[in-house]
Amino acid sequence: MQLQDCAKNQRVINRETGQVGTVRDLHRSELEATVVYDNGSTTRSALRALEPAVETAETIDTTDPIETSGPQRSCPQCGASVPVQVVTCPQCGFQYGVAKRKSGSSLKVIVLLLVAGVAAYLVWKLGLLD
Ligand SMILES: [Zn+2]
Repeated sequence: MQLQDCAKNQRVINRETGQVGTVRDLHRSELEATVVYDNGSTTRSALRALEPAVETAETIDTTDPIETSGPQRSCPQCGASVPVQVVTCPQCGFQYGVAKRKSGSSLKVIVLLLVAGVAAYLVWKLGLLD
């Protein structure tokens, strides 16, 4: 990490130890920083041994975009929210394809929604061509 990239109270990770902490003090002339690590220890480290820490919340939406985006339905067996394109529930293993006769009606609803979506898309597309 460069001196200009480092600021007080910035979250950093120590490349050598893998520990995450907060910059408490900067020692510009020595290119070092005093870091309070999350485990309670306070260490003075060279800036080149530190990297800006990326908090989990900022990376959470890049982990699996297919699983988290798009329409969802709730699993009839465990109630988990599952993307409609997933045929096997990741929580309990319930398979939508081999569901009982009863769920045929919900399949119809999904088909109708898909048809409605395609129709809406066509209307939108034709509207743009006008
Ligand atoms: Zn389930």
